[in-house]
Amino acid sequence: MTLKELQNLDLKKLALEGIEKSKFDSAFVYRYPFSEDLPPVDLKEFEKNAFEFDSVKMPLYIHIPFCTKACFYCHYFKTVPSSEKIVEDYLRALEKEAAAYSKKLENKAKINCLFFGGGTPTYLSAEKINKLVSLLKEKFEFAEKIEATIESSPETLSEEKIFALADKFNRLSIGVQSFDNKVLHDANRNHSSEEAVKAIEMAKAAGFKSVNIDLIYGLSGQSTESWQKTLETAAGLGLESVTASSLRILCGTKFRSMPKTSFPSEEQKLKMHSAFIEKFSNQGMLQCFPYQFVKQGQEMFFLENQWSNGEFLGLGASSCSFLNKWDFNNWYPVQNYVKKVEENGFPTAIGKRISKEEEMIRMLALGMKKSGVNRKDNGVNKADFEKKFGVKIEASFGTEILKLKKLDLLKESGSHLGLSSIGLLFFDEVARIFASKN
Ligand code: SF4
Repeated sequence: MTLKELQNLDLKKLALEGIEKSKFDSAFVYRYPFSEDLPPVDLKEFEKNAFEFDSVKMPLYIHIPFCTKACFYCHYFKTVPSSEKIVEDYLRALEKEAAAYSKKLENKAKINCLFFGGGTPTYLSAEKINKLVSLLKEKFEFAEKIEATIESSPETLSEEKIFALADKFNRLSIGVQSFDNKVLHDANRNHSSEEAVKAIEMAKAAGFKSVNIDLIYGLSGQSTESWQKTLETAAGLGLESVTASSLRILCGTKFRSMPKTSFPSEEQKLKMHSAFIEKFSNQGMLQCFPYQFVKQGQEMFFLENQWSNGEFLGLGASSCSFLNKWDFNNWYPVQNYVKKVEENGFPTAIGKRISKEEEMIRMLALGMKKSGVNRKDNGVNKADFEKKFGVKIEASFGTEILKLKKLDLLKESGSHLGLSSIGLLFFDEVARIFASKN
């Protein structure tokens, strides 16, 4: 949707139908059932049932919760460690958790993708990170060529570290958020715009197959002009991938205690999202997800798998996993996680085996994220849905689809049902409409 088309959008009409982005946003929809609806896990049942399959190929996610500073908007589980002992205890627990899964999975799992997320995984030294990767490769069977991603923040990236990481990872994701130093300062980021550009240049020189940057729109004091400049700087860097997230002002963050007037309005945020889509589609990049563009030919296997209802295993405090239809989460913070690993091997806190109806919602709600303005396989493949569940999408979600089509939020393109250009701006709201069926 172009900025001009956005001006004609009837936001009041959408709001009346429950399609509204509130300033104090609810969290990004990354799973279904939602975390708050998952019960405490029945560990006996979990250990008996979650591993009952012949073989699986899946991504492996590792959560490193450490950061150099807490950003004012951050609602992820992270910590600024007060001692090196906390880090050492955590890494030891991760090793034990990996051993517990490795034993239980026997040789039935093949890892086809590796993702280190956080927190800031590059808070750790390259030596510690690479040692951990080697250990994981001893514990699990890895496919020969895999997408291996590590997330980072500019202040943790020296030239030496970047080159060392390029030995184990082929994709580096850098949390840049903005190229405006005032906006970075007001969000309590621990780096400048210049440091971010330097880190990107070093990453390109180190030969990563893909360098991604994460940006955020809606930050305190961020004007549409500031956002536009950030987009222009990003577009000039020749990146393989650019991600732009809408700020979510969630409970427990410093931003939550600030007046609403400190932040761009929801209308401004919609303009910022549209400007992002316009900028990178005009550059010939592919919109793989509503919030991400990649250069043509690049893949984003880890998320593509997650939005396709695929299985994955997450290790570390607060990590979530989806295995044999078990949707589950680990304990956090670090002390709880370490204690539970010591006690049980498996630090699983909440989770259950999801029902067929829940899986149908999951496939549709998350599958909408596989939409993009120039993506050919836009959204969910209807035949795949029918093959998996033995029922047509329309037969199960007719009411919701009709409502969303009337609001111009969905579009059919051949075999696929996905988000329209308006729907791309409301991808989480559309997911919640499908989730409301239950
Ligand atoms: S660096 Fe990332 S994970 Fe750490 S506090 Fe900031 S936003 Fe959160």
